[in-house]
Amino acid sequence: MGTRPRELFHLFGDLKNLSGVGPKTIANLKNLSIEKPRDFLFNLPFSVLERLPVKSVREVSSSQIVTVEVLVKAHKVGRSRASAYRVNVQDSEVSFQIVFFNARKEYLETLLPVGERRIISGKLEFFDDIPQIVHPHHVKKIDDKKAIVRFEPVYPLTSGVGQKLMFGTVTGLLKNLPKLDEWIDHELLKIKGWPSWQDALRTAHCPVSADGASNTDPARLRLAFDELFSHQLSLSIARNKIKRSKGRANIPSGNIQNKVLNNLPFKFTEDQELSVKDILDDLKKPERMNRLLQGDVGSGKTIVAFIGLIAAVEAGGQGAIMAPTEILARQHYETLLPLAEQVGINLSLLTGRDRGLARNNKLNDLKAGKTNIIIGTHALFQTDVIFKDLRFAVVDEQHRFGVNQRLELGKKGSVVDLLIMTATPIPRSLALAQYGDMDISIIKQKPPGRKPINTALVSSSRIDEVIVKLKNSIAKGTQAYWVCPLIEESEVLHYTAAERRFEQLRAKLGEGVVELVHGKMASEVKDKIMDRFVSGKTKLLVATTVIEVGVNVPSATIMVVENAEKFGLAQLHQLRGRVGRGNIQSTCLLLYQEPLSISGKKRLSILRETEDGFKISEVDLNLRGSGDAIGTAQSGLPRFRMANIDMIEVLTKTAHQQARYLLAKDPNLETPQGQSARNLLWLMEQDKSIRLITVG
Ligand code: ADP
Ligand code: MG
Repeated sequence: MGTRPRELFHLFGDLKNLSGVGPKTIANLKNLSIEKPRDFLFNLPFSVLERLPVKSVREVSSSQIVTVEVLVKAHKVGRSRASAYRVNVQDSEVSFQIVFFNARKEYLETLLPVGERRIISGKLEFFDDIPQIVHPHHVKKIDDKKAIVRFEPVYPLTSGVGQKLMFGTVTGLLKNLPKLDEWIDHELLKIKGWPSWQDALRTAHCPVSADGASNTDPARLRLAFDELFSHQLSLSIARNKIKRSKGRANIPSGNIQNKVLNNLPFKFTEDQELSVKDILDDLKKPERMNRLLQGDVGSGKTIVAFIGLIAAVEAGGQGAIMAPTEILARQHYETLLPLAEQVGINLSLLTGRDRGLARNNKLNDLKAGKTNIIIGTHALFQTDVIFKDLRFAVVDEQHRFGVNQRLELGKKGSVVDLLIMTATPIPRSLALAQYGDMDISIIKQKPPGRKPINTALVSSSRIDEVIVKLKNSIAKGTQAYWVCPLIEESEVLHYTAAERRFEQLRAKLGEGVVELVHGKMASEVKDKIMDRFVSGKTKLLVATTVIEVGVNVPSATIMVVENAEKFGLAQLHQLRGRVGRGNIQSTCLLLYQEPLSISGKKRLSILRETEDGFKISEVDLNLRGSGDAIGTAQSGLPRFRMANIDMIEVLTKTAHQQARYLLAKDPNLETPQGQSARNLLWLMEQDKSIRLITVG
């Protein structure tokens, strides 16, 4: 069962086996991510063009696309080639004209021979009340009638790949679809009223109504569901793999935890309490933990994770926190060190900076078990980093891991419980799509007593005022961020713009207090710049969007974002989260370029209204609408071909439940439905998952 089923071979064969597809086309098709015959089938039309069949254009009163049979009466050549060339035709009731510009006479005479009948399809327009069709889309002989369909699919195209090639190739493939048994639960299929996979593909490509490309079309929904279902299946397979691998019951005494809790200057929020409980329960179970801790910036995830780490230590093991950057690792270390020292826990920090003897000493302590908890960067996962007994690993996720990487992480100890922390507040449906293999704990509340951040929208024409105010605040000891926008058309322009702004600000605010940081810099250079800002030496940090999202600089209380209208709301929310971390009133200035559209203004205003990241991301998704590539990319979701954002929202929960349900009753996919589900996984190229179950 470890190889692709025969029926699917031709869908994964070479593109050049398809008729009409040559090397040039193959190169062009790459732009549409079409690399094998299967991809043609999954490249669905984005809209449907309706060609209304009529007996006579007299039935038509407003301009629209029609298909009509005519008798060709006469050709009227224009005065010059650029002027109109008219062909008089007659349908069953009236005469009208077909008009061409810049056309060759000989060509038109063969296309529309006088005295013969033709089927014509194109946009009927009225010129001084006289109907005419300019440049018809199709002219066919009567016996070729079927070549003009009423509901024509409109495909995403690219240069060198036209509608004809697309539709022609798809039609060919549709004639030869593999016969695959149903993988969707029959009950569900009936309730939803969805067609079979084969029928769904046929209808999606040869629509039967003008709504054929809408989000509510049953064929489209079914195909989207297939995609989400297969994704959830592979997430669940990975999850089962982790769960089935033997874990260890970590039974903590609770003594040290209590001491830590008593030493904290605050009480946990309810959500923090619940998250701690989830984590401790997981640790106690003899299965492996695979949990996501989701909470907005500043919601207090770190301390929650720390309690879990202490529990692992109480139970006799070790813990680790992996941060995405050195600065963040050091920040975690500095915050947790006093808490650890108070209760006699040995905390260690390992980053790329540790070399030679110092590094060796740290590694030896870790191996000997003298170190209880280690905090570090990716450096932690190097092969010479050996734990005595790692029980619990926490990953502070700023960058994103795929399922398979998550599996890798668990390998450092034979029975490591895994907790991933994310600050991306995405709605539940999207969280399921992204982390369906994990159990999820959410911290929604913010710790009490936070001062709300003053958020203001300011026209960029007032930038000079902004700079003067900034100068005054900096003179009083405030620190600030200045974020320059991403210029999508050109990376070079992007950095130039940031550099120019940096130079201007430096000239106005003075040497030595302003620094520039951007993604092109070497990470050591970046780290040094960030260090100077964290330590308070630098007052203003000019940055491209790459500001270390997790850095905590409580004395930084001003955030300026240029061209805020170009950012996603969720991204602006993350940026704003850099300030408001101390007890001083913070300000976020969103500079916008005029004119700002009404919807643009509405969008930005949401940030003024709320600091709830979940709410903001929901509004953001809704305003963006479906099929939005940036939104999807930012949410960290895998790229789906057929499921757009709306469908993901509507279908993910069901896909998730169905996947877990199927695997619960048929963990190795051996029942008839399970076998069919394997075919789906092959179709969707989730081969890795199949290998996971096959190897067992
Ligand atoms: P996150 O990692 O979720 O962004 P942190 O763990 O860095 O948030 O917490 C932000 C700050 O809030 C820290 O200084 C932390 O000590 C503090 N904090 C955490 N929980 C609470 C609480 N329940 N009450 C008050 N302050 C808290
Ligand atoms: Mg954090």
